[in-house]
Amino acid sequence: MHPLGPPPEEQHWVDTATELAAEFAKTAAAYDESTEVPRANLEALHASGLDAALLPRDFGGENLSYRSYGEIVRLLAAGCPSTACIWVMHVGAAMGLVEMSSPDSARFYASEYLAGRRFANALSEPSGGNLFLLPQQHAQPADGGFRLSGAKRFTSGCEIADHFLVNVLIDDKPTFFGAAADETIKYLPIGDTMGLRANGSRLVDFRDTLLLSERRCPPSTGHRPNRIGGGIAFLSLGVADAAIAALIEHARSRKIPTTGEPLATMQWLRFDLADVDSRLAAAGMYARHMTWLADQNSLEFNPATLRAKLLANQVAVDAAQLALKAGGGSGYLSTSPIQRILRDAYAGWVMAYSVEVCRDRISAILFEEANA
Ligand SMILES: Cc1cc2nc3c(=O)[nH]c(=O)nc-3n(C[C@H](O)[C@H](O)[C@H](O)COP(=O)(O)OP(=O)(O)OC[C@H]3O[C@@H](n4cnc5c(N)ncnc54)[C@H](O)[C@@H]3O)c2cc1C
Repeated sequence: MHPLGPPPEEQHWVDTATELAAEFAKTAAAYDESTEVPRANLEALHASGLDAALLPRDFGGENLSYRSYGEIVRLLAAGCPSTACIWVMHVGAAMGLVEMSSPDSARFYASEYLAGRRFANALSEPSGGNLFLLPQQHAQPADGGFRLSGAKRFTSGCEIADHFLVNVLIDDKPTFFGAAADETIKYLPIGDTMGLRANGSRLVDFRDTLLLSERRCPPSTGHRPNRIGGGIAFLSLGVADAAIAALIEHARSRKIPTTGEPLATMQWLRFDLADVDSRLAAAGMYARHMTWLADQNSLEFNPATLRAKLLANQVAVDAAQLALKAGGGSGYLSTSPIQRILRDAYAGWVMAYSVEVCRDRISAILFEEANA
């Protein structure tokens, strides 16, 4: 047991995730090729009890620690990163609605979540890019609430979602709502993503959609960590784990034609592997520290998510690039897991906050700028 790792009484949830991830790994390549959303995997996660365990105790859950949650996301991402990405978004949207809503709505969303309904985040706007918490779309007052016309982009798992966490401007102030999927919400193809191809991102078009007053989240009253910020770095750590595993498997079996020795004997590869593996260990340890801060509800959590994501995104791309170098022509084939892992690694870099935005915000903190 590690002080920053999963508490011993939660280890059984990590074991459950280990078993599920091994199953998910068997179909990851097929889902990547078809771009079909891995619904069966998400249902298996729900059936295992993991979804319920994350709920706060007041709503019937176990308030699973961020330390265990991070470890679980990492395991799932190593097996099937599209599944892990949709799951993080599902958990993040549902927990966000439970924690931010008025008491009646919070109970409603907790019961929907426990019943297996699916949640997604419709936050990013086509014109807003990384500024997904600063919407530019105004919702207009209407009977029973507000009406929204506008599009949200890259909503993972939108087509199987029953409920969305949406943000809009009300009186020029960013405001969260829960919105149920209905006929005013359409899913428009925006082309498949290069990596995490089965994450089901579409353009979600709201046309005069009624956002009910009772599903409006009141302004936040205090600091609390969130499951997306706490989970997203672990998506990249899992992809990095998969890259190193694929590299080792290939380098052990591939013989260098001139010497007949395994590729694993090449000094350039050994040095680079040791380097990237050590940086992965450091990124993983920092991400664990970030989850420990979340479990303490520390104000240091938010800046730590930026550092954890930056380190994890970079090491995932570096590990995947090294795997491709070791894989050579074999790794470049569509039949190799390496090419998929490299594409998946870049998704973490792009997802908000992107590596560049993380760097900018960390520097803003260091320079004590107003927007930090
Ligand atoms: C696989 C995947 C899944 C996603 N799932 C969801 C989801 O479920 N829900 C959701 O709401 N969104 C989701 N997103 C959207 C995501 O979170 C981002 O909002 C989006 O990818 C970034 O927007 P953009 O492409 O418009 O980039 P832009 O913000 O336009 O960025 C373009 C470039 O400019 C850089 N840049 C932008 N701003 C700055 C800055 N201030 N400083 C320095 N550099 C900057 C960026 O790093 C990037 O290189 C997902 C994205 C991906 C790739």
